[in-house]
Amino acid sequence: MEVSYILDGLNDFQRQAVAAPSGSYLILAGAGSGKTRVLVNRIAWLIQTQNISPYSILAVTFTNKAAAEMRTRIESMLAMPVRGMWIGTFHGIANRLLRSHWQEAKLPQNFQILDADDQLRLIKRVIISLELDEKKWPARAAMYFINSHKDQGLRPGNIEDYGDIYIKTNLDIYKSYEQACQRGGMVDFGEMLLRAHELWLNNSTLLKHYQNRFSNLLVDEFQDTNTIQYAWIRLLAGANDNIMVVGDDDQSIYGWRGAKIENIQLFGSDFSNSETIRLEQNYRSSGNILQAANELIAHNPGRLGKQLWTDSDDGEPIKLYAGYNEIDESRYIVSCIKEWSDQGNPFKEAAILYRSNAQSRVLEEALLRLKIPYRIYGGQRFFERAEIRTVLAYMRLISNRGSDAAFERIVNTPTRGIGDKTVQNIRQLARHRDVSMWQASISLVDSTQLTNRSRNAIDVFIQLINSLDELTKNCDLSELCEIVIAQTGLQSYYEKEKGERGQARLENLKELVTATKTFDPEQIVSFDPLNDGTNGSETAETQTLLDDFLSHAALEAGEGQGDLSQDCVQMMTLHSAKGLEFPLVFLSGLEDGLFPHQMSMQEPGRLEEERRLCYVGITRAMKKLVLTYAESRRINGSETFNRVSRFIEEIPRELIEEVRLRGNVIQPPSGLKPFKKNILAGNIEGTGLTLGQTVMHNKFGEGVVVNYEGEGKQARIQVNFKGEGSKWLMLAYANLQPL
Ligand code: ATP
Ligand code: MG
Repeated sequence: MEVSYILDGLNDFQRQAVAAPSGSYLILAGAGSGKTRVLVNRIAWLIQTQNISPYSILAVTFTNKAAAEMRTRIESMLAMPVRGMWIGTFHGIANRLLRSHWQEAKLPQNFQILDADDQLRLIKRVIISLELDEKKWPARAAMYFINSHKDQGLRPGNIEDYGDIYIKTNLDIYKSYEQACQRGGMVDFGEMLLRAHELWLNNSTLLKHYQNRFSNLLVDEFQDTNTIQYAWIRLLAGANDNIMVVGDDDQSIYGWRGAKIENIQLFGSDFSNSETIRLEQNYRSSGNILQAANELIAHNPGRLGKQLWTDSDDGEPIKLYAGYNEIDESRYIVSCIKEWSDQGNPFKEAAILYRSNAQSRVLEEALLRLKIPYRIYGGQRFFERAEIRTVLAYMRLISNRGSDAAFERIVNTPTRGIGDKTVQNIRQLARHRDVSMWQASISLVDSTQLTNRSRNAIDVFIQLINSLDELTKNCDLSELCEIVIAQTGLQSYYEKEKGERGQARLENLKELVTATKTFDPEQIVSFDPLNDGTNGSETAETQTLLDDFLSHAALEAGEGQGDLSQDCVQMMTLHSAKGLEFPLVFLSGLEDGLFPHQMSMQEPGRLEEERRLCYVGITRAMKKLVLTYAESRRINGSETFNRVSRFIEEIPRELIEEVRLRGNVIQPPSGLKPFKKNILAGNIEGTGLTLGQTVMHNKFGEGVVVNYEGEGKQARIQVNFKGEGSKWLMLAYANLQPL
């Protein structure tokens, strides 16, 4: 084995994996054991000591951000830029392939990517056009039907309906949807993978070309690959038998989206010469945190089984806080972050994780109150905001008139007198003639079907798009973007929108222009701009920068938002926290019904996946872990009283320190459920009242203070009255007497 500094600092097992001779390897290891590090070092090692050309390496990561990080780390390790290597997500790589081989893939060159939202809208339109009752055949269910079949590689022709009306109808929707996509040159996320797979299946020359080219394959987070992704990888690996996958069955959290843990076992049998390497030392977390994670996950049956140990200290106990309600919970979390920052630690080292996106709002409010900067990672994506989508739709329609999704979005935005009925007419004609809505509207302008006014309005729209197309022929991306914003009237449309909202929209539009200026297509999937000399199809010209940018907007899964160098608290769902690590981690909302999620509590398989999600959450923490829950929670408009999450009870008591407000710390009595109401008291600033306090009201009688908003004289207090139920009262007028 050649010795290289790339192997320095690795343990024996890691070194064995990094410097393994060519062949197939499964690195099976728990959280924080250096799996990703092994992949990074292996790539550097292959290039440096084995003279492997970066050009022959393909690495798959779970997010675009992870891909970018991996590239940076490899380059800094080798102290030189690495060109020609493909690192990206399955979707990013599939996109690149389809763009290079659009003809073979039977797609228009400028095909458009439908994100989940676009897809749902399109399916809705298909359901309407099939004259099905939307209530009986909800678009969401059809979308699930379509996506889950695509994830398994199944087209309508491969699905048997067994005379079942449910399957039959959904198949009809699937078929019509497929036609609509093909007509408009649109592919959804599942379609990208399926097409990329079929591209190779149906074209052995092309497959051979890529098998020869990518003779070194590496896959991170392998436990979350779905059927089609695995099939794709297997096909590419072919007879080369030179592939390294790393994964952790305990961190498989995307089963609900088609991921198959079973792929780990399949790998062993499909690659019969493969070798399994286990990494058992955890380098990330303190002893207590790791033990909590180990004990929790031990409750799952049927694991592949791993021993994970650390030689770090036990560290601090895990903190547990019972909030009176979600507001109190958030306030506690934010006070901890304040303390953390006062001790001289950066905000960005703190992460708040939650099960459901809806939890973030209250947390955000608490952060805003203390003026603590934060960033939501993967929350509402920048590219999903209404005004951004609108501008992108203009850019899209300019590039591809066949995009019905874009057409519908902007035909009357900003308003130009094209009503729903007119749009309905256009839609019907398009369906009837099997043409795009754009084409249908051109024919309508020349017909007598519509009123003069509607015809004029459509004509104005058509002229606008055509003239923008003409005007921007030689523009760069950001000029195009600026022209669209100014000339379509969007700028003045949002300027008229009152208050902060319109202001925020205008700021977002500016941000979009910045994004087009700084856009670098290399970021999506690295791509060698030099021709590889084989068939000439992989040149940069096959793809315009605009199409690249639009793909980027669709694929960028709300990952890096804003300026990464800014020091902000990191907020994200547990699902998006995979692979990351932070010195201070909060797991919030640990209540049965929220986490584990209500939907998962009936099905045993689902509960196990929730437990894995909790394992992922706990193992993100390096030094400090804080678990919180709320005794009552208002979420999605209704108030619930849930019991504490079973996951907390699965963590040994001795690892946990229960926190009370005002810095009191009490150990929960062992064996006993320590989570009782009323013990907890939270001062309501400037009112002399505390949460949980019993009060008397002249009219409503006796009640308990359960919630509040605002402070001092302005405070509104929610009281749960014995006879009258819960009421919100202005404190200044309520004349409450403490009891
Ligand atoms: P996850 O399962 O969460 O994806 P992982 O197995 O990919 O985790 P890494 O992220 O690669 O683990 O590593 C976890 C942390 O441990 C990182 O901070 C990494 O730098 C550190 N680490 C890994 N191996 C070593 C080592 N041999 N010596 C010191 N630190 C290490
Ligand atoms: Mg990792």
